[in-house]
Amino acid sequence: MPGQREQAIRERAYAIWEGKDRPIGKDLDHWLHAEGEIMRCIFCLKEKVESDEHVFPFAIGGCLITKRVCASCNSKLGTSIDAPLINHTAILLRRAELGIAGKSGDVPDAFSHLFGDAVLASDKSQRLKITVDPSTNKLDIYKLYWSPPLEHQNDGRIIKRITVDVRDVGTIDKSIQRERKRLGLEPFPQEYIDKIMADALKNITTTENPEVISTIEQDTQHLFERGLVKIVYELAFFWFGEDYLDDPVAIHTRTYINNLMTLKAGAASVPMKGIITSNILQPMELWSGNRNIHIAYAMVKENSAAICLKIFDLFYAVLLVSENANRYLAGHLSDEKLRFLVIDPITRTMMETTFMEEIRRIVSNMRGREVDRTAR
Ligand SMILES: [Zn+2]
Repeated sequence: MPGQREQAIRERAYAIWEGKDRPIGKDLDHWLHAEGEIMRCIFCLKEKVESDEHVFPFAIGGCLITKRVCASCNSKLGTSIDAPLINHTAILLRRAELGIAGKSGDVPDAFSHLFGDAVLASDKSQRLKITVDPSTNKLDIYKLYWSPPLEHQNDGRIIKRITVDVRDVGTIDKSIQRERKRLGLEPFPQEYIDKIMADALKNITTTENPEVISTIEQDTQHLFERGLVKIVYELAFFWFGEDYLDDPVAIHTRTYINNLMTLKAGAASVPMKGIITSNILQPMELWSGNRNIHIAYAMVKENSAAICLKIFDLFYAVLLVSENANRYLAGHLSDEKLRFLVIDPITRTMMETTFMEEIRRIVSNMRGREVDRTAR
């Protein structure tokens, strides 16, 4: 809406003017600056200030950026849509293997994600943190602070037990005083604390190779699917253009994503027809050889357009993005709008060509191999 856009530009230009300590005679500069920043967000459809949205999340090496998402939607996408994908166990393991850092700059530690949270098999109330010591490559089992409920004795005494890892034995005094404070009791005098500390040091128990139980988190609700739907929606917009926002499939998809972002109910099922799987699908087979790259391309058949997506060799999706493809596409494979995109998450580089060029490349590679065979 033009009125809405003008209003958004005016507000932004005013904010820029205020941010620069209200200079005189720079109105046009600020207006033009604001005009360049205001866009129509492809999720909330409001005229807002642009932000950098990674179509493929940054944490999986994404380097394709769209500026058509407002900061508010961008941040909600990160927490409710991208997070279940980038924190999926299979993805975390691959990120750890390839050394792909997230926005915090940290590469996930595969071991601690898989086995880090554990309990002692002989006493499941004893929680443990397991890591691998990088200097020895051996497991380091660390016992977390544990204090069971108060024990009321027959003689009226009340016992509060505290157990800590041996490495934390020096902190027991502080823990005791903290627990006393919590119970509304006076702190113990220092000499009594010293006696308890001495007792604690005598009572250290060692368990050699303890049996531990760790549970691996499973995405049983397939929450990772949201992340794939978002990538496909953004690519469809990116490739098919502004008109795509009015496509019935786009409207349906946007509602699904917006509902998830605002935590509204009724957003459970994937809005696009098609398949999402963690197995190899026929249409992606040609590109399944390289396990560490992401691929996306658009296909058209009669009046239907689909986007095929591969994230590493872990997730595959073929989703119908339009049943009115003739609005955007010529309906034949050599259409320039049928794009082929490869992202190398390790180098954070990408290559985009037309689908037809990619097919030509594959065919010529196949010919190359035939030549090799005849030469031998
Ligand atoms: Zn928005």
